[in-house]
Amino acid sequence: MILQVEGLEVSYGEIPAVRGVDIGLAEGEAFAVLGRNGAGKTSLLRAVAGALATAGGRILYDGTDVTGEGADKRVRRGISLVPEGRHIFPGLTVRENLAMGAYHRKCRGARLQAEIDSVLEQMPVLRDRLSQSAGTLSGGEQQLAAIARAMLSRPRLLLIDEPSLGLAPIMVDRVYELFQRLRQDGLTIVIVEQYVQLALRFADRAVVIDKGRVALSGTAAELRDSTELIDTYLAARSEALA
Ligand code: ATP
Repeated sequence: MILQVEGLEVSYGEIPAVRGVDIGLAEGEAFAVLGRNGAGKTSLLRAVAGALATAGGRILYDGTDVTGEGADKRVRRGISLVPEGRHIFPGLTVRENLAMGAYHRKCRGARLQAEIDSVLEQMPVLRDRLSQSAGTLSGGEQQLAAIARAMLSRPRLLLIDEPSLGLAPIMVDRVYELFQRLRQDGLTIVIVEQYVQLALRFADRAVVIDKGRVALSGTAAELRDSTELIDTYLAARSEALA
């Protein structure tokens, strides 16, 4: 198991957001976290990345308990988060944004350029835009840049929050094609996704989170077949892209 989440709890003050979630992921798996707005998906992802403190439970990465570790240390271990809304620095160039992903590895100069070239082989659309300020990229291109930045930290576990949010369908397809290629390279990927059918086409397995708890879990095929159950937990808008 590359990731084991055991009895995870996250609270904002008195408000519980994640209440006793258990998840286990094998290396190379593609995993989807589904659920309504406010279900606790982002909180779960951020807690795994170390961006949010836990109120209970454990997070094991590669068998090591990382629950008390900060986000920086987890990035160095190979856990990388692409947050919702992308968080690209608009005033910096695309190259500078990407370089930040490699910062903790003290990767500079020619080696950095070689690594950027290598990551951008998967995203040729960004190659011509390296010197452009990131704020001038389209939403989809910014999403690709955020993923490229995460890839420059050399992750083994990539956590991606709402990759399709605000993107035109053509860009959503492009982003998911990229995930498919990353997955073929052996990366373990967790996505939080509003578009249920899209997520279930991509993932091997999935959970549905409801009010901070795992309401459903199974293989993507099982969950695709249990549309009735999914309809109970997920809003109809999720099917807009189906
Ligand atoms: P969405 O799909 O809308 O992004 P989500 O499933 O990712 O939702 P979270 O963002 O994890 O859900 O939120 C879970 C719960 O925690 C919600 O009830 C939310 O209002 C609450 N919450 C999230 N962030 C905070 C915060 N900073 N302070 C207080 N409550 C918060």
